[in-house]
Amino acid sequence: MPDFFDTSIEYLKGVGPQRANLLKTELDIHTFGELLQYYPYRYEDRTRFYQINEINPDLPYIQIKGVLTQLQQAGYGNKKRLVARLKDETGSIELVWFKGVQWILKKLKPGVEYVVFGKPNQYGRKVNIAHPEIEVLTPQNNEISYLQPVYSTTEKLRRKFLDSKAIAKLQKTLLERSISKIEETLPPYLSNNYNLISRKHALLNIHFPANQDMLSKASFRLKFEELFFIQLSLLLSRANRKDTHKGKTFNSAKLVTAFYEKHIPFELTQAQKLVIKEIYKDMRSGKQMNRLLQGDVGSGKTIVAFLSMLLAIDGGAQAAMMAPTEILALQHYQGLSGFSQKLGLHMALLTGSTKNSEKKLIYNYLKSGEIDIVVGTHALIAEGKSTDSALFDEEQDDRVQKVKFNNLGLAVIDEQHRFGVAQRSKLWSKGTDIYPHVLVMTATPIPRTLAMALYGDLDISVIDELPAGRKPVKTVHRYDSNRLKVWGFVKQQIEKGRQVYMVYPLIEESEKSDFKDLMDGYESVCRAFPQHPVSIVHGKMKSEDKDYEMQRFKKGETKIMVATTVIEVGVDISNATVMIIESAERFGLSQLHQLRGRVGRGAKQSYCILITKYKLSKEARLRIETMVRTNDGFEIADVDLQLRGPGNLMGTQQSGLLDLTIADLGKDGKILQLAREAATEIINNDESLETSRNKILKNVLSNESKGSFSWAQVS
Ligand code: ADP
Ligand code: MG
Repeated sequence: MPDFFDTSIEYLKGVGPQRANLLKTELDIHTFGELLQYYPYRYEDRTRFYQINEINPDLPYIQIKGVLTQLQQAGYGNKKRLVARLKDETGSIELVWFKGVQWILKKLKPGVEYVVFGKPNQYGRKVNIAHPEIEVLTPQNNEISYLQPVYSTTEKLRRKFLDSKAIAKLQKTLLERSISKIEETLPPYLSNNYNLISRKHALLNIHFPANQDMLSKASFRLKFEELFFIQLSLLLSRANRKDTHKGKTFNSAKLVTAFYEKHIPFELTQAQKLVIKEIYKDMRSGKQMNRLLQGDVGSGKTIVAFLSMLLAIDGGAQAAMMAPTEILALQHYQGLSGFSQKLGLHMALLTGSTKNSEKKLIYNYLKSGEIDIVVGTHALIAEGKSTDSALFDEEQDDRVQKVKFNNLGLAVIDEQHRFGVAQRSKLWSKGTDIYPHVLVMTATPIPRTLAMALYGDLDISVIDELPAGRKPVKTVHRYDSNRLKVWGFVKQQIEKGRQVYMVYPLIEESEKSDFKDLMDGYESVCRAFPQHPVSIVHGKMKSEDKDYEMQRFKKGETKIMVATTVIEVGVDISNATVMIIESAERFGLSQLHQLRGRVGRGAKQSYCILITKYKLSKEARLRIETMVRTNDGFEIADVDLQLRGPGNLMGTQQSGLLDLTIADLGKDGKILQLAREAATEIINNDESLETSRNKILKNVLSNESKGSFSWAQVS
């Protein structure tokens, strides 16, 4: 039997075919159920009358009442307007109309008492209300108290008289017809534990709140429900994968011990030790590990990855590490090859620019198992088009030789956000008996709330401590006009033996004007520091030229590195202690934080100088201020989330998880946490949702996966 809530919107009283089409094309509302889930985006407060002396421009829409004392036209031409004055016992305020003046003029009479509804604005030194709603005060509107829902609509809809009020009316009609059919989706014990009102009451009150309190209860219930079901299904799939995806069991710690006793160059931090323990536990469990390792820039993730690889190699398997750029892959390779040699391990570097003859050798040795560790770039798994083959693709293809491992035990993916969620799943989507363990590392601290929502199917480890002796980077903001002073400082630092990065925005590598800025910048740097050799690195260079310049800088042959954000992630040169970011207002917060992370990696005091033009937008100013205020990546990520919303953070767009109808990951972190907690407890106790009290949840999820939300009988 078709579900009532799947009924086409056309059949709702007051809609009909024409308006139905508009609702479909403009708002994507096709059915009764979808209309009901089209929630107001704000509410107008008709629950009280403000006194005129309480009014300030920061208030939202408010309601006042008073006597009209003046009514006159003012100004000429397109400045022409109608000005009225409303007075109560506390004061008076101006009401202004720029349009429809004749009509309003006819409607209003001085001396009469009115109810006025509108948004106070600052106008010069005064506060006024432009284009308010205004009606004669009656015993009814003097009494009535309600929160008026406001729905967003479009110009096209308004032309067909489907404004916010009309949508509210449709909602009312629909709710009257459907209220008895709305079924509960959460088991009673859960609603009790989390103080949730019923689904029926929630839907009623989200559209027509009885009062503020009911509104917040309704919104809490609906947000909780939405986030809860997402978490529940993520956790279910994780539990399911844990059961079905076997992983290799690595028990021998001989190599690790040898490395630990003889070669490790520093004492691990407590946080690093803890994370390694978590990883080892996974790799010994016999189940596939799927772990996200979060750690701020410089927290020392690479060594953690290496120690994990050793465990796999000790168990007779191979390990792979993928980095997002060639520079990074090369750096990992160089950083780890010293250790590998000491331990007698074979390591290879495989990137887009590896020579074909060498590639063939590497393929052979990977297949035969002679290579223990391969470090590579993402081009290797991402593009079928390139001559590179998929690193982890199991299928044979005649045209290109594919990388085949003799026995891949662990795959490490560095700097996850560059890869995206879809690519990550490539690693384990191919069916085998035993899956390689997967460790995903990210330096962009994702706010915990977002990490939970996005990676809810991964286990999460966090390195929340920097190695001892690091001095926090000193960050300052300077305007263009102070560049000479900044360069004076640069000179000083170079004379002390330090090296300097100067980064230019080249957001789109194709932007001609950005490229010109970079080259102009390079030239003026060369002119300003004739006694010091300068390197330049940008995306348009051939990768061998890039490597060459990076190496020169790393060896200290050049003192200044002029670059674009290609140096953003991972580059590790501890003698470089000054990071200058030109046009810093054009960078996003997480990018600025990544760039700053390139310095402050040794014990020397490091500096970050953000250079901007004088005039800054409010948001740009907030970004710069945040950078100056804190070094804490998580705090920065939170501000970033507030500013940009989760959809814009590091490729999260691909994740359908962000198609939320009511919850907002930027604001509802607390609710997400509760929902996660509730879902975790349920899955821990009843992994397949078998018990009678959780059956309702199983039904909702299975209806959801069929594509229609469970409005139907949940029995
Ligand atoms: P990230 O987490 O940003 O990838 P890296 O792994 O590149 O950080 O480490 C940053 C620097 O800190 C490297 O030079 C590394 O050798 C060093 N390092 C890592 N762990 C420690 C530690 N426990 N004590 C001292 N230095 C460390
Ligand atoms: Mg790193």
